[in-house]
Amino acid sequence: MAHDKITLADRVLQVPPSPTLAVNAKAKALKAAGADILNFSVGEPDFDTPAHVCEAGKKAIDEGHTRYTAVPGIPELREAVCNRFREDHGWEYAPEQIQVCCGGKHGLYNIFQAILNPGDEVLVPAPYWVSYPPMVQLAGGVPVEVPLDEQMDFDLNPETLAGHATGRTRAIFLNSPSNPTGSVFSERALRAVAEMALEHNWLIVSDDIYETITYGGDRLPHILDVEPAVKDQTIVLNGVSKSFAMTGWRIGYSAGPEYIIKAMNKIQSQSTSNPCAPSQYAALAALTGPQDFPGMMRDAFVERRDFFVRDLESIEGVTCVNPRGAFYVFPNFSAYYGRSFGGRKIEGSVAMADYFLDEARVASVPGAAFGADDFVRFSFATSMEVIREGMERIKAALAALE
Ligand code: PMP
Ligand code: GLU
Repeated sequence: MAHDKITLADRVLQVPPSPTLAVNAKAKALKAAGADILNFSVGEPDFDTPAHVCEAGKKAIDEGHTRYTAVPGIPELREAVCNRFREDHGWEYAPEQIQVCCGGKHGLYNIFQAILNPGDEVLVPAPYWVSYPPMVQLAGGVPVEVPLDEQMDFDLNPETLAGHATGRTRAIFLNSPSNPTGSVFSERALRAVAEMALEHNWLIVSDDIYETITYGGDRLPHILDVEPAVKDQTIVLNGVSKSFAMTGWRIGYSAGPEYIIKAMNKIQSQSTSNPCAPSQYAALAALTGPQDFPGMMRDAFVERRDFFVRDLESIEGVTCVNPRGAFYVFPNFSAYYGRSFGGRKIEGSVAMADYFLDEARVASVPGAAFGADDFVRFSFATSMEVIREGMERIKAALAALE
């Protein structure tokens, strides 16, 4: 093999490739090669993008919307985002306070590129979504994990939070409902975050990508409602990927103080220029058209969630917090760590997920990727038949461990 002549940047060596996307690619490759794999790995709705949204995307191409757009997105879409925030939450934003970007993930990337200096710390409640720490590291920052307790339904404990803040803390992630736990932060927790953020001038990054997929009917506590004074130091991140089954269109958006959005626009102007033009028109149709689609998905998800959680909890030694939103279950399999199959010892979540893939032909994501090695994540954005069959295989695989 040729020797690598070019030295790679340290930042590349610091972060792993996205584990969710890596497991998904592996599962798809195995499936394409003929293996009977049930894929619970990647988190994307198993619904098609609504027809009227697809039509808007096609029409945009036919009408010649195939050129560069304004860096922060077309004015109509930014206006539509402002209207959604006003109608759905009563929050007022001006279009200059909105940046449309290439998916929610890209929005987070822009935020940290815009605010972090080397060594700045960002509080990351753990379990966290896989890309949070690398986003911070790629911007030169230091992610600081704040452990969440399964016994407290993964709510944020104010004392634990205070114990992880330092003079270098610049920002905190909120993700409620959460990927991977499906948990929701309580009003008490959010109030504590708001108080500390106000006192120490932290930026609050509220990743609301799962806000439309919630179970139980109650309105979820949101930091901007719990303490409106934090609006001047909060970026709300959202997008159409999950709520309108538009993962491949790559449209997300951020709302926040104008000077931060402006800084993010500078980063965007020098990197992607603007998000894909036809996709912006499709997102415009999603945000301005009928809003019943997320509710329809949620109704389908709730039956799957109930079945999955009940079946997991019926397995001896397994615990599973009932998700209040998003479409993941995050069971704790640690009671099975230390057991073996055919001389192969299950030492932790990576070995457990590998074992599920090899022996049960079930693809899942190890909890270690989310900063929580006792757990394994399964997406239930898949059919009931697949979930039923998957659970049978998981139970059989666990029973075979000695
Ligand atoms: N935040 C969380 C918590 C997520 O799970 C995802 C899913 N990929 C995103 C942000 C980004 O979504 P996307 O880039 O597909 O819009
Ligand atoms: N958010 C999804 C997941 O966690 C999509 C994949 C990704 O972007 O990480 O599986």
